[in-house]
Amino acid sequence: MTIRAGLARLSRTRSMQRSDRMERWRRKTKLPLIVDAIGLHVTASGARRLLDAAGPAPDGVTERLVGEPAIRSRRLHYATGIEVILHDEIVVAVTLHARDATVELSAWIPGASPNATLEELVTAIGAPRGFAGFGQPYFTLGPVYATADFAGNRGWNEPGNLVGITVVATKPGLGCRPDDDDCIACAEVLVRDHGAVDVNATVRALGDAVSAGILVEDLHWVRLSDLVPLHASRLMPRVECQLRCTRCHRIVCFALVRDSGPRFEYCAMDEARRHPLEAIPAVELWGDEERIAADQEALHYVDHEPGAWFLVRRKDALFLDARYVVSSMVDASALVRLDAADVEAYRTDGRSYLCELARSIHDGSPHRETSPFYARNLFGGSDGKQWRDAVATAIVNHTWLAQHRQ
Ligand SMILES: [Zn+2]
Repeated sequence: MTIRAGLARLSRTRSMQRSDRMERWRRKTKLPLIVDAIGLHVTASGARRLLDAAGPAPDGVTERLVGEPAIRSRRLHYATGIEVILHDEIVVAVTLHARDATVELSAWIPGASPNATLEELVTAIGAPRGFAGFGQPYFTLGPVYATADFAGNRGWNEPGNLVGITVVATKPGLGCRPDDDDCIACAEVLVRDHGAVDVNATVRALGDAVSAGILVEDLHWVRLSDLVPLHASRLMPRVECQLRCTRCHRIVCFALVRDSGPRFEYCAMDEARRHPLEAIPAVELWGDEERIAADQEALHYVDHEPGAWFLVRRKDALFLDARYVVSSMVDASALVRLDAADVEAYRTDGRSYLCELARSIHDGSPHRETSPFYARNLFGGSDGKQWRDAVATAIVNHTWLAQHRQ
């Protein structure tokens, strides 16, 4: 959910909700002052009340443009340890910095100190608690959410690890956090020239970030190096590449749109997956000589059985990428080159042989050394990552995700 969509949901929820006055946070804490300000323009009375409580004036203000179309993100930092983030002057997040020596956490939440553990916060705040993903505790405060951030790996059981409490409109895990606007790893990858997006410079900046291991290209989308030539060919209405930030985990979505300007968004995983992308045309239709030559050496899609296997080829060699289950929680897949006997059986029996082979791989626990497929699994070898990337690129138009985004 984008931050904008989160704010729209907030105003709907607010109008529908009968407030539960029994919850402790409404009666005993100053959190309602923050909750009521989220989603308001900075000049609205509810926002003014919060800013007045935060301090006479911010002692630090930073701002940056985020994405394209651009949102102006402003951070107001108060000497009281409170930080307010505005998007185009709308209050989107408020943080109580517990480690800021000046913040009086107990003035906002009686019973909460910078040394509070998660259990102590649960008692002090008195609101329903949840977890986003594996390690993000949060509280539901009526129509909005407060994340409790702790240092260390799930450090919430030990005192002294509380970093801060941040109130946002979007349910944690479903959208990006406004405080990631300033992610030191990915906030600077969009390059502008006189206000407009410099597409080539942005592609270079993204490529540098990939080389440095800061961003990881998602091969279910257009390859970064193919973005500009595909767009220039005008064969697709919209070409998009997606890259995941290894630090803040946001997905950078950079799209070039036919007959319109470029778009650059930071998304959570779920919203990034819902972006549209048509099938990518054959490289001969848009690639230069070098790119077409490289494609000769690449793996190519041949056939697949949804949820079970993909057949790909490189020149005359055939490879089966077969899915198998390690446990109820873990799925994996093995890439096996068809040997002479497999190829013969495939010629004779067609797909049904591939289904049979995929079934033996699935049942044969290829992750175990005792499996007959262990040594044949190319994903398990030293160049496993290159094989994975090559298969992902070959099947880009045929994955479950591809069916859903077209
Ligand atoms: Zn980041």
